[in-house]
Amino acid sequence: MLCPVSDECMFKKKYESDQNIQCKGFIRIYCRGGRHNECKRRLYLRETGDWPEANYMPNGYMARD
Ligand code: SF4
Repeated sequence: MLCPVSDECMFKKKYESDQNIQCKGFIRIYCRGGRHNECKRRLYLRETGDWPEANYMPNGYMARD
């Protein structure tokens, strides 16, 4: 099930078309695979009302570009 905020999510937008294997895996598991309720980006958005930086990953760590 697709994450309900995926249209606005810069992580998904950025890394969907990137070669970063780890981020592609997260998109498969979190954004498209139903674990979006555990996503740290969604948690951050809920708690602060703002999105974190694009390279803040669903597991709460920063992606290296
Ligand atoms: S990274 Fe998190 S907030 Fe962004 S689309 Fe994926 S599950 Fe949703």
